[in-house]
Amino acid sequence: MGLLEGKKILVTGVLTDSSIAFHVARLAQEQGADVVLSSFGRALSITTRIAGRLPKPAPVIELDVTSEEHLAALPGKIKEHLPYLDGVVHSIGFAPEAALGGNFLNTEWQDVATAVHVSAYSLKSLTMACKPLFPESGASVVGLTFDATVAWPKYDWMGVAKAALESCSRYLARDLGADKVRSNLIAAGPIKTMAAKSIPGFSDFEDVWTARAPLAWDVSDPIPAAQGTVALLSDWFPMTTGEIVHVDGGVHAIGG
Ligand code: NAD
Repeated sequence: MGLLEGKKILVTGVLTDSSIAFHVARLAQEQGADVVLSSFGRALSITTRIAGRLPKPAPVIELDVTSEEHLAALPGKIKEHLPYLDGVVHSIGFAPEAALGGNFLNTEWQDVATAVHVSAYSLKSLTMACKPLFPESGASVVGLTFDATVAWPKYDWMGVAKAALESCSRYLARDLGADKVRSNLIAAGPIKTMAAKSIPGFSDFEDVWTARAPLAWDVSDPIPAAQGTVALLSDWFPMTTGEIVHVDGGVHAIGG
């Protein structure tokens, strides 16, 4: 029996087949889940094409997490494909160019606001939009972060947005625990995806991981982060919430 046998899961954030979310969707299906994907804007047609590479068909519904209209329509759209939701994967991040790359001291609020809205506040919006579909037995919400306890080269306001995401997940854990809803994050090491390509100086991260990771880290391998996500979606972390599980080759544990 698969780890997610019979579970109904919404996976956001599939853009290419290197997206962490693509491998979450693939592994979730392999582990017995029924999966619905969401995508937005121009990415919608790309996601629909990439979904064809999954082991089983997965419908793609439209969701821009900054659109109140899309969020309000979400439960209805999911219900066309799934009766309820046992799990939600938040694999969404975006910061305007001016918020990344070493311009930290000069970034305007509007660019910061966009980064925080899309990358952090959206964890709350997405979870609350899906809440009417969570069964009485509870649900698991899993997001993806990049360790926000330190300041990284070039990551700038995306790092601040990730700190907000990490805090947001803890508050969701606090406020939704009574409904048996767990909220957890995977803190992944650097992986070469579309989002990573938009970070100037991504190679600086590669150097840090090459120097410090106790377990050899492969920046072209999104699978370990996806495996961690699937594990948190499963029933094997029933008493874990507000947690950040590092899937980073151990870098977070190693000094200098
Ligand atoms: P990706 O580019 O494949 O995925 C990012 C996704 O965010 C895309 O599918 C994009 O369509 C979506 N998105 C952006 N704005 C959106 C909006 N307004 N509404 C809905 N969706 C929107 O890259 P990825 O690396 O797989 O990123 C997934 C998550 O993993 C992100 O939260 C990212 O910060 C996080 N993460 C990535 C790395 C890395 O090194 N790649 C490391 C740690 C954490």
